[in-house]
Amino acid sequence: MEEIEIIKPDDWHVHFRDNEILKAVVPETTRHFARSIVMPNLVPPILNAKQAIEYKKRIEKAIPTTDNFEPLMTIYLTEETNKKKLKQAFKDEAVFAVKLYPAGATTNSDSGVKDIQKVMPVLEMMTEIGMPLLIHGEVTDKEIDIFDREKVFIDDKLNFICKELPDLKITLEHITTTEATQYVKEGNKNLAASITPHHLALNRNALFVGGIRPHNYCLPILKREMHRKALVEAATSGNPKFFLGTDTAPHLTKDKESACGCAGVFNATYCLSILAQLFDNENSLNNLENFISRNGAKHYNLKTNNETVLMIKSNETSIFREFLHIGNQKIKIFKPDFPVFWTISK
Ligand SMILES: [Zn+2]
Repeated sequence: MEEIEIIKPDDWHVHFRDNEILKAVVPETTRHFARSIVMPNLVPPILNAKQAIEYKKRIEKAIPTTDNFEPLMTIYLTEETNKKKLKQAFKDEAVFAVKLYPAGATTNSDSGVKDIQKVMPVLEMMTEIGMPLLIHGEVTDKEIDIFDREKVFIDDKLNFICKELPDLKITLEHITTTEATQYVKEGNKNLAASITPHHLALNRNALFVGGIRPHNYCLPILKREMHRKALVEAATSGNPKFFLGTDTAPHLTKDKESACGCAGVFNATYCLSILAQLFDNENSLNNLENFISRNGAKHYNLKTNNETVLMIKSNETSIFREFLHIGNQKIKIFKPDFPVFWTISK
């Protein structure tokens, strides 16, 4: 048996949804993580401090009393976002960061930004006060191939924002390509990227193993093996510009296994075990703590957590539960295609 003790991790990108799903998924995250940045793409989206505060209360109600957890709230950037009110919300610590979804990029992103120029005054204000911008980095033009949308976003949109506002604190979220890892490595010092467990574990073949696999469908979509390898290299390298954002995104199986299945992978339950195994497989366990517990906190100018967690490698493969049940509905829990020997104890 092998053991490692590491600083308690944070998850810098989660979807808690609302109502019954929220109650079921929040404990899956709070069991292992100390803090999470919570995405605002509800229906309707979280657009202001008041909505963020109310949403935070609903999340806090769902946290088991045994867990020490802080949700960090975001608001959904639109072309109508009020600069003055946003500044106040950040000063009041009601809102931690702003999320930029290009209109139509993913689940519930219809009210997203169409024209970056229209939000530049808000981004300038955020640069002045040090408020982070979180970006879903994909263009949404129907003419652009779905596998190229991240690269085109970097070339056409992100590069513009980075040139105009070199001091803006930006997280390019859930990156999926060699081009993204390269751009972030070479980019502004305030530019960093989050990476998900499923993009580290799977390439795009996983979408079509013996038939269509709706539970591996997410956005940005899985890419070729060479891109997955670039992500693994970035995550396991210890480079402080890369950190964990699981993008755990629950949908009921009935909505995934459908003629028009929803995008999103629910990975909160076993993501740390899976990551420990991934890093172990790469002989990089020494950099696991950087990726899941240190780099993100540093990027967001937060202290690392005081608590620690113990990760244990057993001789036998872990048996994962397949579903999280919600009444008579269920959510499929992500599991990779390699054996996992690591478990987390509190
Ligand atoms: Zn997401």
